[in-house]
Amino acid sequence: MSVFPGLSLKPEVAEYLKSVFVNKEVLAAVSLQEAEIRFHRLLTCLSHPPSHTCVRVSTHLASLDEIRLKLAEALQKQQMCGSSAEDVSLQIVPHPRIPDVLLLPVDGPRAVKQLSSEVVVGAQCGSAVLRGAHVFTPGIIASPKYMKAGDVVSVFSDLEGKCTRGATSFQGKTAFVGNGVSEVERSSIFCSDKPAKGVGIRMVEPLYWSPSFDGVLPNLAFLQNLPSVVVGHVLGPRPGERILDMCAAPGGKTCHIAAIMGDQGEVVALDRIRNKIDRIRQNAQMLHLQSVKVYCFNSTQAVSSDPALQTEGPPFPPESFDRVLLDAPCSGLGQRPNMACTWSLKEICSYQPLQRNLFHAAVRLLKKGGVLVYSTCTVTLAENEEQVAWALKTFPCLTLQPQEPHIGGEGMTGAGLPPEQLRLLQRFSPELTWDQTQTTAPLHCRADKDTIGFFIAKFLKN
Ligand code: SAM
Repeated sequence: MSVFPGLSLKPEVAEYLKSVFVNKEVLAAVSLQEAEIRFHRLLTCLSHPPSHTCVRVSTHLASLDEIRLKLAEALQKQQMCGSSAEDVSLQIVPHPRIPDVLLLPVDGPRAVKQLSSEVVVGAQCGSAVLRGAHVFTPGIIASPKYMKAGDVVSVFSDLEGKCTRGATSFQGKTAFVGNGVSEVERSSIFCSDKPAKGVGIRMVEPLYWSPSFDGVLPNLAFLQNLPSVVVGHVLGPRPGERILDMCAAPGGKTCHIAAIMGDQGEVVALDRIRNKIDRIRQNAQMLHLQSVKVYCFNSTQAVSSDPALQTEGPPFPPESFDRVLLDAPCSGLGQRPNMACTWSLKEICSYQPLQRNLFHAAVRLLKKGGVLVYSTCTVTLAENEEQVAWALKTFPCLTLQPQEPHIGGEGMTGAGLPPEQLRLLQRFSPELTWDQTQTTAPLHCRADKDTIGFFIAKFLKN
């Protein structure tokens, strides 16, 4: 059952994206009809959440089995539905190829009846609800005039960001995400000097059901999309090495890298946005990681012009790092669920030059013999395969490397890369197999195919 129409885009953006999926090289391999179906399926699946929840566990603190049991106990308490911790544990499946991943099935879309009392939340909050979260009070934009704690309400996501804060109703474009019980009264959301911060609506009948991880084993279980966990393993950091994560906030990959290294060595995390930096520190602290060093810095400027300069923080002399991760700022068109993107074509296309500037710094900061991983959570050729083609031409010292694990598909045609290079790239393309009725395959097989849209390239500097 497809409950949402596909991701809605500005016409110019839809046209642009279609040209990516129905390009000349693609049409040499498949019919026009097949290419168009793939594009439409992409828009549909992007508007729905993945069919699993992926949890990265802190194997630097405890074994996978121990964490799995603890998680089952914690979730069983949360559900209080009579099932034993053992029953819950059966639903938590280790990924056979990724040693620090547990998968949980998501149940949905479920038949949930809409109520007359309506609360409107921001699109980001609505997407989080579709992935198992409750509604946090700052996410509420509109509520019934006399809403009080204990009221049962239907929650709608404001798809185009047009609802006025504090409104009592809204006629714009929304999507229903489920029913919940209000934990706050209206005045404490909009009228008070000190607006409430915690859970505002506790979801009791979400459209997609998956456990809420709010406060659940915060130091052992970290929610992360599957391809993002793959990135850490593809980078392959080793204990004692010095690693640079150039665009690090909120620090999911930074912390994973430090955990893989057993917290031995140094992981330098940079991000240019000051108020995001604290999130990296909080995450590292929560996961008991001491090897993470965080700096607010523009990574395009992270190479020192004085190669002899020896400071602890940025800028750094050339060839300072054993491995570099460039998890680039991007148009984010692979994120799920995403029902409406209001960006202009100019905004979508603004990332390619920035990514190239970051790439220049990455190559200079990497030691000879070092590994550079480039990743994005978008589906365009311009930010993925075209960047790889450009990098190989611009930096003759770089060669593409095989990736382990390689769970996604190969790179997409259209950027002029030969088949042997496309095979070395890892593109997660949920649209290729997306079918919500296919629930009989083992969870890890479904999870590998039903991810966010994502791209990974691994280079060696010779
Ligand atoms: N790697 C992160 C993780 O796994 O949690 C996600 C990174 S997100 C895709 C991209 C980040 O790049 C954003 O936090 C953004 O603030 C940062 N960014 C954008 N331009 C930057 C620059 N010139 N220097 C450093 N960081 C930058």
